[in-house]
Amino acid sequence: MTEYHDIATPSRTKAILKKHGFSFKKSLGQNFLTEPNILRKIAQTAELTEEDLVVEVGPGIGALTEHLAREAGQVLAFEIDQRLIPVLEETMAPYSNVTVVNQDVLEANLVGEAEQAFGITAPRVKVVANLPYYITTPILMHLLMSKLDIETMVIMMQKEVADRITANPGTKAYGSLSIAVQYYMKAELAFIVPKTAFVPQPNVDSAIIKLTRRTEPVAEVLDEDFFFRVSRSSFQQRRKTLWNNLISHFGKDEATKKWLETALEEAGIDPKRRGETLSIPEFALLSNRLLTNKKSL
Ligand code: SAM
Repeated sequence: MTEYHDIATPSRTKAILKKHGFSFKKSLGQNFLTEPNILRKIAQTAELTEEDLVVEVGPGIGALTEHLAREAGQVLAFEIDQRLIPVLEETMAPYSNVTVVNQDVLEANLVGEAEQAFGITAPRVKVVANLPYYITTPILMHLLMSKLDIETMVIMMQKEVADRITANPGTKAYGSLSIAVQYYMKAELAFIVPKTAFVPQPNVDSAIIKLTRRTEPVAEVLDEDFFFRVSRSSFQQRRKTLWNNLISHFGKDEATKKWLETALEEAGIDPKRRGETLSIPEFALLSNRLLTNKKSL
C-alpha cells in the first residue's frame, strides 16, 4: 500500500515554505489549509471517482491538490503565483495525473486548457477549490459564465459570502448573488471551517459550499441579461419596495410606470413587496412580462 504523507500538517507546511524561502502574499489571498481532516472532508464532499476530471483554482503548495490527485482521474490546477510553481513541481512529483498552469484563472481559456490537459474535447469537470477571498465572486462568476461543462463545484470561501450564495428568499442574506448562482446551480452549505485551520489565519471563518448543475432550468427566462438586470435593480436599495427600486432604475415617466404596473399585475406580484421576497421563478415571470410587453408597445 502506498504510504502517504500529507502536505497540509502545520509542521510539513512550515518545512516546505521554509525550504523554498516562501513568504505569503496577502494581496493574492494566500491562506493555506493545514488540517488534513478538513482537506479529506472537502474531497469527500466532491464525491470524486477515478473517472473524474477536476479543475482546481489556486493550489498553493498542493495541500488540497494531493487529495484530489489521489481520488480523481486527473487534476488541472491554475496558480497565479509563479513562486509556487517550483514548490508544486516538488510536492506533486509523486502524482502523474496533475497539470499545473501558471496563470490568472480569470484570464484563462478554461475550455482550451481543460481540453489540452485532459486530452478530450469539451470535458465535463468538477471544480474543487479553496478560493482566494479577495476575488471569490469574480472567479465563481467567471467559472459559471464560461463554456466549461461543470457538473459540481465544491468551493471554500468566507462564510459571509457562502451565506449569500446559498440564501433563500425572504432572508437577509438573499440578494442578486444568490440569484446569479442559483439560477445555474443548486446551492448548499456543506460545512464551516474555523479560521484556525489556516496559515496565516484569516480574520473570518470560512465555509464550504456545494453547487450542483441543474438538470432542468429553475425557471424559463426569455432573456438572461434582462432577467439579471431586473433582479439586480430590485435589490438596489434593500429597504425600498420593489416598485420604488423598479421606477428608480427604469424611469418615473407615466409610460414606464404603466409598463411596470401592467407587468407586475400580470405576474401576480404585489409592487409593495421587497425585492428580497421574490423567488427566482417570480423574477423570471416579471422580467418575461416586461420584455414581451415592451416589444408590443
Ligand atoms: N489550495 C491551497 C490551500 O487550500 O491551502 C491554497 C488556497 S489560497 C486560499 C488561494 C490560492 O489561490 C493561492 O495559492 C493564490 O496564490 C492563488 N490565487 C490567487 N489569485 C489567483 C488567480 N487569480 N488565479 C489563480 N490562482 C490564484
